[in-house]
Amino acid sequence: MSACKACGCHLVWIKSASGKSQPCEAASLRTWHPTEDAGAVVVEPTGRVVRMAPGGQAVWGYAPHHATCPKVELFRQGRETD
Ligand SMILES: [Zn+2]
Repeated sequence: MSACKACGCHLVWIKSASGKSQPCEAASLRTWHPTEDAGAVVVEPTGRVVRMAPGGQAVWGYAPHHATCPKVELFRQGRETD
């Protein structure tokens, strides 16, 4: 586990099927509901990325940190060096 350099929250890195690691906020791990969370992107611990949509299934996973970080621009500038 590492901390976000921008906002200091705890991150977990989830490796997706494409081999890219995606930073997710550790505290965001929960069950996401297709209607209440419609439009949200969820990263499952397996690396599968799901966009919540009404009529879909509930998903247990993380919010990608670039969606929640208050200083997301830092992610776009450079690479993480942890
Ligand atoms: Zn952050």
